[in-house]
Amino acid sequence: MNEALEYLQTFARFPFALRKFLQQRLTLDDAKRIVREGMEHREENFLRMVDRSVYGYPNSPYLPLLKMAGCELGDLRARVQQKGLEGALRDLRAAGVYITFEEFKGRQPIIRNGLTIPVMARDFDNPSMQRVFTLETGGSSGAAMNVGVDLDFVLDRSPHELLSLLAHDCLDAPSIRWNGILPAGTLRNIMRQIPFGHVPTRWFSPVGLRDSRHWLKYAAATYYIIFWLRLLGVRVPFPEYVGVEKSELVARAMGALLATHPSCLIHCSVSRALRVSLAAQKLGIDLAGANFSISSEPATLAKAKGILQSGGRCLPNYGTVETNRIATGCATPNAIDDMHVFKDAFVLFDHPYPIPGFGITVPAFNLTNLIPTAPKVMLNVQMDDYGVVEERSCGCELANFGYTTHLREIRSYTKLTGEGVTLIGNEILSVLENVLPTRFGGSPLDYQLVEEEDAQGFTRLCLVISPRVAIADEHQVIDVMLQALSHSSPMADAASTIWQQTHTLQIKRMEPQRTARGKLLPLYLLQRPQNSETQRG
Ligand SMILES: [Zn+2]
Repeated sequence: MNEALEYLQTFARFPFALRKFLQQRLTLDDAKRIVREGMEHREENFLRMVDRSVYGYPNSPYLPLLKMAGCELGDLRARVQQKGLEGALRDLRAAGVYITFEEFKGRQPIIRNGLTIPVMARDFDNPSMQRVFTLETGGSSGAAMNVGVDLDFVLDRSPHELLSLLAHDCLDAPSIRWNGILPAGTLRNIMRQIPFGHVPTRWFSPVGLRDSRHWLKYAAATYYIIFWLRLLGVRVPFPEYVGVEKSELVARAMGALLATHPSCLIHCSVSRALRVSLAAQKLGIDLAGANFSISSEPATLAKAKGILQSGGRCLPNYGTVETNRIATGCATPNAIDDMHVFKDAFVLFDHPYPIPGFGITVPAFNLTNLIPTAPKVMLNVQMDDYGVVEERSCGCELANFGYTTHLREIRSYTKLTGEGVTLIGNEILSVLENVLPTRFGGSPLDYQLVEEEDAQGFTRLCLVISPRVAIADEHQVIDVMLQALSHSSPMADAASTIWQQTHTLQIKRMEPQRTARGKLLPLYLLQRPQNSETQRG
């Protein structure tokens, strides 16, 4: 009942906040000024954030860690002054002040030096933010996730979006989106462009209105937001359902834009971009002038090659649900996935992390959030991603703002990603360890999920089942798995819908790999030579 009431309150508050939001305009000069100021006051912004949301918030899960490290606010201030922001945060990391991804999601208590601190995902919520439009996704793992639209935060991230478009010469390019309705973040991303007057010409959603088990909740919220936007004069298109297998339709829509404009922009996942590119080539549509703003999964060489063959360009992005965009493509890249960290908004460095059970060490990303309206307080949160972090001056438009931290080769060490939808380990683990053995026999040791890339570059998730388990109809296993995911959480439900369309899940009958490795094998861990120790500085 309480949740229903909150949901309704959310709807009632929204039009007032939206009206205020729409009064804000962002010019290119504003965006440049905001980012320059953010860069200039980075250290103060950080100290103000920890003062208000950590030291000034008795329930902060960071407090016991800072106390353990003997670091009061005054000490931190002095250290920042002495060693700079990165230096101070690296010191804290070394002293045990960090949060793992599982802890951040509230799935594991924080355990440091014999101290156990129980945490929930909402303990990391920013205490100084009042949510305007909140929709929580429950999830079997108890990891609530906010998928709403925080208008203040959307507004604060708008300059980054504008500067990214500027760097890639896309300010005047009409755009198309091919990403899902809520709970996906598409609406939030559309709204980030409204302050500078960009609205997509079309919005294709790979998830239909009634595909979700929670369709009423999310479809209603999606349409409610669009309805108010349109009523207040912003002509955001209603989503048109275009399944992942109907990529020709998207290729044609891009071709139509390019017939009347020198360039266009499409925002979609990496694998959807690959699908559009293949469809365009099949139809003989030249996509020269098209910019693929891609995210949600690694832009591997195989996938990028397939996209570039259409004649278009790749504009890679990196972000998470909690942070929104962290990095965006370099305009003079030294690799297909070379990106700039928005340094006024984040501090990101890598720290060697031995993955439990895998016998390898990866340079894991540690992230600190500097935007005061961010929905989560993040102080050295170790993402489950790793990659190459470099300080470099590339000379592109983005470097002019002091964005000197570059990222590339970003991979996950716990997540499996197929077709731009990501499932976090825990949800799949429960299916592999409980649902499948109970239904089809065998033990949890007989099931494993392995990520692979096929010849075209598409990611396949292979469900490896020991041949010792007798199964009459193997298709049933996939059905049961998709059904179980669909009941697990709204995010997993959306994943199962798309994986069903694209036959992402496949079965392989062989013995699961009996190494020290885990039950989930992301592609990049699979490809590593066994027993290798990898560390990057
Ligand atoms: Zn650059």
